[in-house]
Amino acid sequence: SAPEGDRLRIAVQKSGRLSAPSLELLTAVGLGFAPAGDRLFCAGENAPVDLLRVRDDDIPGLVADGGCDLGIVGADVLGEFAAGAGVRPPSLLRELGFGRCRLAIALPQGLNWSGPASLAGLRIATSHPRHLAAWLRANAVAAEIVTLSGAVEIAPRLGRADAVCDLVSSGATLAANALREVATVATSQAVLVGRAGGLDAARAAIAGPLLQRLDAVLGVRGSRLVLCQAAREALPALLPLLPEVSTHTVTAIEGDPERISLQALCRRAPDWPALEALRGAGARDLLVLPVERMLA
Ligand code: ATP
Ligand code: MG
Repeated sequence: SAPEGDRLRIAVQKSGRLSAPSLELLTAVGLGFAPAGDRLFCAGENAPVDLLRVRDDDIPGLVADGGCDLGIVGADVLGEFAAGAGVRPPSLLRELGFGRCRLAIALPQGLNWSGPASLAGLRIATSHPRHLAAWLRANAVAAEIVTLSGAVEIAPRLGRADAVCDLVSSGATLAANALREVATVATSQAVLVGRAGGLDAARAAIAGPLLQRLDAVLGVRGSRLVLCQAAREALPALLPLLPEVSTHTVTAIEGDPERISLQALCRRAPDWPALEALRGAGARDLLVLPVERMLA
């Protein structure tokens, strides 16, 4: 087997919102790992690629100092790290399209909002002090930042802060804590990061093909292959009804010169109204298929 130095090490979140989708993505690019259970380190089963399963906060540092070659982490966590003094942060290699959320300012019911100036003099709890500081500076507001490592949303109820600056996706957590979202500080999604200086030749040789596969997967994320049959003359009416067509192929149906088979790759799924409109325009035997990978 290859010596230790010729293996690629990828840092992923051990348990949390990004864990499952990170592993799914690595599986989609062909990597297999034994069930890790509680283990920190997880050896690849079919490639010289190992996982290090850690807290997400540790991922940018691990990649920055060379403990890991690649990492999957929220852009928000990467941004906090990069805004810190000292180390050269990892480079952002790809946006991964999951873990989407926003870093938002939220206020308890009693507080009025008429713009960022409403925060002047208040205590704002956050796990993202550098993002918040930059946003306050950009808005010329002086407020006190209360840095917490978690449970930010309950800080106002505990009397530790007047407002919060926290990650939000659906807004359910804010609502459950009687907080209302008033401003967006940043948006975030999971990103793939790599060592700022790049990889050595041996590791670059492992990472290169993986990145190509990743692009083959990311490029068709959310895409659907739509198949149907129709009268040849219906074709001009059908195409505009399909959402974001990137390529389409029209094939003759043997023995019936008036009918065609249409195959269209759409960047997103046609919804029910779109399918019904297609049917209304003469499409029959409509099939909508998920697309897993595409090698052009
Ligand atoms: P760890 O134990 O690894 O430190 P954590 O509690 O810091 O875990 P999670 O809550 O699992 O982290 O969130 C990880 C990432 O998921 C966030 O940094 C963010 O990029 C993303 N995310 C997406 N939606 C949300 C949300 N609604 N709340 C918090 N994070 C979200
Ligand atoms: Mg964390």
